[in-house]
Amino acid sequence: MTLAPTVDAVEFPAEALYLDGQWQTPAEAGRFEVINPATEEVVGVVPVASADLAREAIAAAARGFETWSRTDVETRAATLEALADAMERHRLQLGALASAEIGTPIRDALAGQVDLPVRVLRSYAQLAREYPWDVRDAAGSSIVREGAGVVLAITPWNFPVHQIVSKLAPALAAGCSVVLKPAELTPLNALFLAALTEQIGLPPGVFNVVTGKGSVVGEALLQSRGYEVVSFTGSLGVGRHVGAVAGDAIVRATLELGGKSPAVVLEDADLETAVRTTVRNCFVNAGQKCNAPTRLIVPRDRVGEAVELATEVAESYVIGDPSDERTTMGPLVSAEQRDIVTGFIAGARAEGATIATGGDRSRWDRGFFLTPAIVTDVARGSVLAREEVFGPVLAVLGHEGEEDAVALANDTEYGLSSEVWSADPARVAALARRIRAGQVRVNGVRTPALPVSPFGGYKRSGLGRELGELGLDEFVEVKAILGDPVVE
Ligand code: NAD
Repeated sequence: MTLAPTVDAVEFPAEALYLDGQWQTPAEAGRFEVINPATEEVVGVVPVASADLAREAIAAAARGFETWSRTDVETRAATLEALADAMERHRLQLGALASAEIGTPIRDALAGQVDLPVRVLRSYAQLAREYPWDVRDAAGSSIVREGAGVVLAITPWNFPVHQIVSKLAPALAAGCSVVLKPAELTPLNALFLAALTEQIGLPPGVFNVVTGKGSVVGEALLQSRGYEVVSFTGSLGVGRHVGAVAGDAIVRATLELGGKSPAVVLEDADLETAVRTTVRNCFVNAGQKCNAPTRLIVPRDRVGEAVELATEVAESYVIGDPSDERTTMGPLVSAEQRDIVTGFIAGARAEGATIATGGDRSRWDRGFFLTPAIVTDVARGSVLAREEVFGPVLAVLGHEGEEDAVALANDTEYGLSSEVWSADPARVAALARRIRAGQVRVNGVRTPALPVSPFGGYKRSGLGRELGELGLDEFVEVKAILGDPVVE
């Protein structure tokens, strides 16, 4: 399969998955089509793997672990760098593929699905070289850190390459092997990555990609008990199930789940900058972003002004063909996802909310497009104030001062991310410590160029962290060697 016509295009067989270093087309497997959500055209066909294949993949990964866990740190670090180099060489092709699968505008796909994962890979090459793999404790014993074993990685569709690499890079750095079950809607970028690992000579069985349904092959992988870590990113409902199975099997589970992140604006903040930045951040990837600030919480007497500004920004989006560099918002990933989002908007209206703008799909007769929505008069405790939508919908709420703003911000079962805005550094620092969330972004700061700050959730947004050293710890076991014969 070839996408963008580059000189040195990556090709991999259609209707095949990557297992034990081989492209396999399982005879008994069904097939499913990957649809471009902007054109509704088929961009690829992949196998629906069976439960038997899941067992084969786990067995291949167990063999891969035997090889990979014995490599030295420098080999692993150099491999991550080689994968980063390969992604950079094929930047345009991978960006175009991700854009075609998800509907993300090409500029965002290149930045988020190629450039960011490349930086993540490089950060783990560096960390692998600095990590305390083997240290002495106060008793003179060796404290050895080792790869935990086979990793089962299960990923969603919204930022697929970044989500895969955030698991693959630390797992490989630790010496683990990986079986990846990518999302049904976006498996092609995962197979593309597999082709790159083949190109750079990663040994067979170290990275395996099994495509298919979560409820069939995902479930079979999960129940296989042949892995030591399950690293899951996805919805709260499936995450609960993954956590329960992992608990029963006594394997480690990292769960990156949903969010309903607040952007809290205090009365001394620059309201215009805060609103414009929050709207843009909320609508990245058509709002299909787990850490999107979907609740804009502003002083009550400034709600009208905030809604007006937010509406202006929402209406300025250039919605259309994701492959056009001028496009700033593409379609939603599927017809089903668009229906879910329009259902939330209708539900909010029924609960008394006002739709200031957006929620319109009538302009398009092809593609899963929807205009971004700004919703006000959202009652506290209502569905829109508390539940994750996963689409371009921003709720604007009013607060009665700092205490009330904190209470509102924390009034959700999620705690993935948050934003705080104030002109007073001491106030904003204190506020940041009161929000129950894994990340707090102060006055509009974006993801740093060096992606090592831990990412993950408080409360029901998950367990564990990704990125940086804490992300590596998730794939590492610790052994104490007492009476180490090499100790003098
Ligand atoms: P989802 O939970 O439906 O699916 C996620 C993955 O799990 C897919 O690969 C799916 O095939 C697989 N799966 C489904 N059932 C399974 C089963 N029984 N056994 C094993 N695997 C199974 O989520 P989605 O719709 O793909 O993604 C959207 C969700 O992901 C949102 O809730 C979003 O907030 C969340 N998300 C979280 C983060 C984060 O880092 N916290 C990042 C992105 C997305």
